[in-house]
Amino acid sequence: MDRVTLTPAATAVFATVLTRGPISRTEVSRVTGLSTAAVTKVVRPILAAGYLDELPVGRASAGSGRPAAPLAVRADREFFAGVWLRAGELVVVLADLRAGVRAAHRIPLPGTSVAAVVAAVARAVAVLGAPGALVRRVGVAVPGEVDRGSGIVRRGPYPGWRDVPLAALVREATGLPATVENDVRALTVAEQWFGEGAGTRSFALVTVGEGVGCGLVVNGALVEGGYGVAGEIGHVPVDDTGPRCHCGGRGCVEAIAAEPAVVARIRAATGRAALDLPGAVALARTGDRAALESFAAAGRAVGRGIAAMVNMFGPEKVVVTGDGVAVLEKDLRAAYGPQAFGAAGGCPLIVEPLPPESWARAAAAVTIMALIGLGPG
Ligand SMILES: [Zn+2]
Repeated sequence: MDRVTLTPAATAVFATVLTRGPISRTEVSRVTGLSTAAVTKVVRPILAAGYLDELPVGRASAGSGRPAAPLAVRADREFFAGVWLRAGELVVVLADLRAGVRAAHRIPLPGTSVAAVVAAVARAVAVLGAPGALVRRVGVAVPGEVDRGSGIVRRGPYPGWRDVPLAALVREATGLPATVENDVRALTVAEQWFGEGAGTRSFALVTVGEGVGCGLVVNGALVEGGYGVAGEIGHVPVDDTGPRCHCGGRGCVEAIAAEPAVVARIRAATGRAALDLPGAVALARTGDRAALESFAAAGRAVGRGIAAMVNMFGPEKVVVTGDGVAVLEKDLRAAYGPQAFGAAGGCPLIVEPLPPESWARAAAAVTIMALIGLGPG
C-alpha cells in the first residue's frame, strides 16, 4: 500500500471499514476491540493516503456529544485485475478497492503450456490498461491444488501442470504483485468479505460444477487443511452402492452430482449422446422424467454432503452455487433438512447461481485482501 505500512491493528480497522462501511469510529472500535483513541490514531495515515473517506457528518455519536463522521473505503483509490483460469479461456475483470466490477472480458486460451497461459494472463491484464497505470495488482484463481503462501500451483488445472510457480511468473510477465489461489477458496474469500458471508464468523461455500467443492471459514479464518485439502465434501460417500469415483472411492457426492455425472445419466437414459448441461437443464424444465431424476439424485447427494459438513463445522450459513443449482434446489433442501443435527437444521442454505465473472472477481478479492495485509502476496 502506498506510503502506509499496515500494522495488525491497521489491517483489522481497514478490513472492518472495507466490509462494513460506511461505519463510525465508535462502531469500528466495538468490532475490532481497539479503543476509539487507537482507532482514530490508526485511521489518520490511511485517510491521509486517500484510501478512506470521511462521509458527511450524520447524527451525533452516542454519549460523546461530538459528531460522528462515518468512514468508507474510497473504491477508486486502487484497481485490481482478477483472472480466472478455465478450460479454453480466461475470464478477467477490473475490480475496484471494494471489489466492485468495473469491466469484464474473456480471452481465448491458445494453449495450456505454462508459457502460453502466463502470456495470456499478461495479455488479459494489458486489456485493462497499461500495467501499473490503472491496475496495481493481479489476482489469479485456478481450479486445482494451490499453495497460496508460495503462489505455487501444485497440481492442475491443465495437463502436466505440477509445481508451477505461477505467482512469480505472473509477477515477472506483468511487473505487478500477484496472488494465486484455488478458485473455490477464492470465491469463499469473496463471499466472506464482500458477499453473503460478511459479518459471520463461520461460513461455508459449496460449488457444484465440473466437481463439487467447498470452502470453509471457521472462526474468521479460511480453513487451509494440513495437506492443502479441507472441506472436500465432493468426496463424502453418500451411497455405498453408488458409482465409482475418480478418487478411488465409491458413491462420493461428486461421482453422483458433478455436472458430467448428471449429464451422463441423462444421455444414457434418453440416447441423446450430444446433450450438454444447458440442454439437460432445459430438458428437466420440460418435465422429462430421466432428466428430473438425474438432477434429483444430484440434489440428494449434495444435500447429504452439506448436512455432513454442517454437522461437523457448524457454519452460520451456507452458500450453494453452480450453473445447474436452481434445478437441484428442491431435492437438495429435502435431503439436507432431515440429516442436519439439532439446531444446525436452522443453518440457512442460500442457493445462488453465479456468473463466470464472479470467479474472476473472487481472484481480485484475494489480492485486495493481500494488499491490506490479509494473506501472502
Ligand atoms: Zn471421490
